[in-house]
Amino acid sequence: MRDAAGGNAEQGSATSEPQEVGSVHGSVHVRLRQVSQVFKLPTGGSLHAIGPVDLDLNRGEFFSVVGPSGCGKSTLLDVLSGLATPTAGTATFEDRPISGVPDGVGAVFQEDASFPWLTVEDNVAFGLRRAGVDAAEIKRRVDYAIGFMGLKDFARAYPAQLSGGMRQRVCIARTLVLQPRLILLDEPFGALDQQTRLLMGDELLRLWRETSATVLLITHALDEAAMLSDRVGVMSARPGIFIDMVSTGWERQRDSRVVSTPRFGEITSRLWEKLRRETMKIMGAAHGPAGGGAAP
Ligand code: ADP
Ligand code: MG
Repeated sequence: MRDAAGGNAEQGSATSEPQEVGSVHGSVHVRLRQVSQVFKLPTGGSLHAIGPVDLDLNRGEFFSVVGPSGCGKSTLLDVLSGLATPTAGTATFEDRPISGVPDGVGAVFQEDASFPWLTVEDNVAFGLRRAGVDAAEIKRRVDYAIGFMGLKDFARAYPAQLSGGMRQRVCIARTLVLQPRLILLDEPFGALDQQTRLLMGDELLRLWRETSATVLLITHALDEAAMLSDRVGVMSARPGIFIDMVSTGWERQRDSRVVSTPRFGEITSRLWEKLRRETMKIMGAAHGPAGGGAAP
């Protein structure tokens, strides 16, 4: 179902129980209207990656996106972070059209983007130095972010001396110092083991509560989405649109212990039910007649 009401409208299909929650203030922070991204391929064809997507993120909301691999999640993040201009539709942040990387938006990308030649503290200070922030302020913010992410003992270490989880924390700290009002995270814990992921999730929740930022997290892990979010949007197979919106009803003061509640089970099964169908479409396509690849 690809109509605006069922697919892309967040008001339509929330779960039966608690709906909007404490952290959601109701004022729209990010707005996407009929956003599509179609890539031109070197072969001359085109590839319809996402859309048309309609989405409102409320100020201070923790929103996660799940969807099958290749459905356009990173493409959506590129639009939100101003790295890509959509081929159709409008995207606004704080009521201004997103063009170029907007002030107040911080993104943590899928791959480990720490600079191997810089120490942890220099990595974290990088963006502030480039922005010409004065040295005392840089020190204050870097010390805070490093302490917050539990990296104090490693401030002088180089990324190669850290575990994967710690390197991701460096990347998050580097974004945090910029004091973003919208934090975009693209599968930041993808490479981590399950336990570390859950604990990183707790840190992310703490960060979200302390900064009051709006968070958009892309993840392929349904448990992560269910545990962390106020709302989870499920994307269809490509071209990605939202086919379900699930409000979790968690309190703002939550942590990974919600995974042992019956509610958590309900949420993850609902997410899986939708995602299973979409993933099967893709697998079907992979096993189907030759061609695959580009849309007509
Ligand atoms: P996801 O993050 O959900 O795995 P992506 O957003 O990375 O998916 O990609 C969605 C689709 O768009 C994929 O089929 C991918 O190959 C294609 N794609 C992404 N970026 C480009 C690009 N710059 N040019 C052509 N195709 C692209
Ligand atoms: Mg991706």
